[in-house]
Amino acid sequence: MKKRRFGIDIFLTSSCNQKCYYCTSYKPYLQKIKTDVQKIKYIVGILEKYNLNNFVLRLIGGEPGLVENLSEVVDFLKQKHLNRLEIYSNSTVRVKYPQYINDSAIRYIEHMFYMISNNRILKLGDIEFLPENQKNNYNVVILTDNFIMNYDKIDLEPLLHKNTIWKMVNNRSTFVSFTKDYLYRYENFLSMLKSHNLQVDNTLWDIKNLTLETRVACSLAPPSPVINLEENTIHHCSKQPLKTLKKEVSETNLDKLVKHKLFTEVPDYCMTCVDPSFYNREQFRLQSMWGHVLN
Ligand code: SF4
Repeated sequence: MKKRRFGIDIFLTSSCNQKCYYCTSYKPYLQKIKTDVQKIKYIVGILEKYNLNNFVLRLIGGEPGLVENLSEVVDFLKQKHLNRLEIYSNSTVRVKYPQYINDSAIRYIEHMFYMISNNRILKLGDIEFLPENQKNNYNVVILTDNFIMNYDKIDLEPLLHKNTIWKMVNNRSTFVSFTKDYLYRYENFLSMLKSHNLQVDNTLWDIKNLTLETRVACSLAPPSPVINLEENTIHHCSKQPLKTLKKEVSETNLDKLVKHKLFTEVPDYCMTCVDPSFYNREQFRLQSMWGHVLN
């Protein structure tokens, strides 16, 4: 059976040069943002015990492109033989650190799709969407209500290629109601993608079929914990940025995180979570229930 990778979001900064209406971790851009590289080295030093090839580390924020010493972080992580190193940006990284766009060792993901207005796409950055490429660079589009209800009124051509990730909504996505109309149009959207030999990254799940057991399993082995370098905290799940459980960054807590023993309570928000990642988890739930990366 396929071995699961352990993904961790490394939250470099909460500062950002944009002000997205859906953002939960924004504070206005402050000059001279530096992240604590020593802290990253400390964390990676502990994860090394569990074979770094099991880990996907995602550099996120705020906006990672505003971090002045981002190169130090990336240079360090690139030598570490991670399973994957990812950077999420609103396109600031593309402008300020173009070397990462040309480095296929880094999976660069751009969330530049801001909203649809007057039949056109509003972007965060004043540059074109990423074109089809072999360099591991991707656009990401979240299939929110607004998008699904309007996708056929706008020119999606620049996005219809293999380097765009079409993602279902998650708990971070606001204004999603799953009305009959949404579901009908969602199916049409899938057919349109299929006609271009493309597909949605996660399929639309039937939330009613998710069992309590599945939710508990997801909660005890959360799919996307976050290490917040500004706060020196480990957060239970990136899908719940505001109310997530938190613990201090320490060797003991990082060991427990990897063994899925750090978060032993099941918070209420997991009972209403709409993130599809735990649907996928059903497939490997029995295999992986706790400590599966330790082979
Ligand atoms: S149920 Fe949702 S909020 Fe809870 S750990 Fe899983 S993905 Fe995160």
